[in-house]
Amino acid sequence: MLKEKVRRCPECKGIIKTGHTEMVYELKDIKITVKNVSANVCSKCGQAFITGRIAEEVNRLVNRICEDVHSFVKTQPEIGKGHKEVAIAV
Ligand SMILES: [Zn+2]
Repeated sequence: MLKEKVRRCPECKGIIKTGHTEMVYELKDIKITVKNVSANVCSKCGQAFITGRIAEEVNRLVNRICEDVHSFVKTQPEIGKGHKEVAIAV
């Protein structure tokens, strides 16, 4: 039988389980919140661990959204002021 590998949180030694988290990106004038990101989450302290592949995917998504937002902002200068929050779910 395969022994299931239990991963422990380096912070509190809690057991890490698969779950979801939120990633917040703060760019020049836009704040992007990526919701529902697949991650390993500590069941004790809630620390989220995102794998390289997922992080890469989210980064790509954020980059694409940034381009979209910037082209949108260019056509509507009054919207370009202040902080914006864009929420996306993966
Ligand atoms: Zn922990």
